[in-house]
Amino acid sequence: MDEFDIAIIGAGMAGASLAAECGAHARVLLVEAEDTPGYHTTGRSAAFWDEVYGGPAVVPLTLASGNYLADNGFLQPRGSLVIGRASDRVALEGFVAEYSALGARVELMARAGMVDLVPGLRPDWCVAAWQPGCADIDVAGLHQHYLAMARRTGSVVRLRARVDALMREGAGWRIAWNAGGREGAARAGLVANAAGAWADDVARLAGAAPLGIAPLRRTITQLRVDPPVPTTLPLTFGLAGDFYFKPAGDRLWLSPHDETPDVAHDVAPEEIDVALAIDRLERVVDWHIAAVERRWAGLRSFAPDRAPVYGFDPHVPGFFWFAGQGGFGIQTAPAAARLGAQLLLGQPADGMTAALDPARYAPGRLAMAQA
Ligand SMILES: Cc1cc2nc3c(=O)[nH]c(=O)nc-3n(C[C@H](O)[C@H](O)[C@H](O)COP(=O)(O)OP(=O)(O)OC[C@H]3O[C@@H](n4cnc5c(N)ncnc54)[C@H](O)[C@@H]3O)c2cc1C
Repeated sequence: MDEFDIAIIGAGMAGASLAAECGAHARVLLVEAEDTPGYHTTGRSAAFWDEVYGGPAVVPLTLASGNYLADNGFLQPRGSLVIGRASDRVALEGFVAEYSALGARVELMARAGMVDLVPGLRPDWCVAAWQPGCADIDVAGLHQHYLAMARRTGSVVRLRARVDALMREGAGWRIAWNAGGREGAARAGLVANAAGAWADDVARLAGAAPLGIAPLRRTITQLRVDPPVPTTLPLTFGLAGDFYFKPAGDRLWLSPHDETPDVAHDVAPEEIDVALAIDRLERVVDWHIAAVERRWAGLRSFAPDRAPVYGFDPHVPGFFWFAGQGGFGIQTAPAAARLGAQLLLGQPADGMTAALDPARYAPGRLAMAQA
């Protein structure tokens, strides 16, 4: 039976990036249930890097990832607006103050600036927080970059292999999977759980207590609008968290910012969420919707406190969590993977991770809350 130092379960952005960061220092096995890595949440994202997205616990990870993403050519400037009505001014001022203090570049903008950026904006939208640093991410490029790096450093990637048993064997683990009806197995000293929406299910296989990682459905629809949206349109959020939109070429990607509790599966969009998104868009801009061209949904998986979970399980030796990447698992991937590898391999922080506090992301915080 093949022997590895680390077996990583799940080859989405989380597992692929972690394998890439560990590969130079350890023998890594990356096991993925689907034919295509990235088939689930990673392949369904809105593809943005936004300094404040995900809240204060996520900001340090996003900021720490920015240089890696930019230096490797994965970012394209976009800019983002969080827009509000007159009654939202105080809340937006607070938003700007809170996130500026965390190191994000964010400033208040008045209606004149907003209309320049979002033509057709209805008159009641008159105040916004503007983030010039927000960027589009080449998600497929980043994912392939990490998969290639993992393979280059010697990681073995097994696709179409759903892990269905994790057994203690000596000081390590025996990992067993089903590959289209054929059984496979390997041994590894450590197991890393990068199974996205399935993270709690994988924990149960290892005899670890689930941490309450909850999959929430999010929908996006692609619209053709008339006249076509400017390609310079910023990523635009409602302050109330009830919509966002951004251009994709001359098309519009629109989300109702839904967070519907779901179960781990190959999720599909609901028509009601598409309709809700369009209804909300029509309250924001006066654009004519010429066609609904595509719609899709993905599962964003959150720990109960909505911070990601990186670190060893406090009760099951050798079982490592790399889960709960919510709606920020692409934009935080470089720093998260570097930190995850350092924790797995017992290595010190480096320039990318020096400003991160691993305790903030440790699974023990949730296990204690559950006790
Ligand atoms: C609509 C939408 C928009 C988003 N927009 C953004 C954005 O703009 N920016 C951003 O940073 N993030 C965004 N996200 C979030 C981001 O996509 C996720 O945080 C990220 O993709 C999570 O990656 P992952 O590898 O954890 O999950 P996944 O990509 O789902 O990968 C987990 C993998 O584990 C595999 N697996 C599960 N169980 C097993 C098993 N037993 N054996 C083997 N393999 C297994 C699955 O098959 C799957 O491929 C968005 C998400 C959605 C849904």
